[in-house]
Amino acid sequence: MSRKDQCSICSRETEEGIYLLRVYICEACEAEMIGTPADDPRYEYFVKRMAKAHKSMIPS
Ligand SMILES: [Zn+2]
Repeated sequence: MSRKDQCSICSRETEEGIYLLRVYICEACEAEMIGTPADDPRYEYFVKRMAKAHKSMIPS
């Protein structure tokens, strides 16, 4: 049985992903995130997407 989840970064649905801080991200985004240095503007984009996804899971 396989379950597809939607990546919080690129919105792709894939079985090949992981949960990072309870936020689901696909393999491609995980690899890109790991390969992006913290001072790269794209890194901030990833962090923002993650934070947004994380926030939306917690009912306020
Ligand atoms: Zn992705």
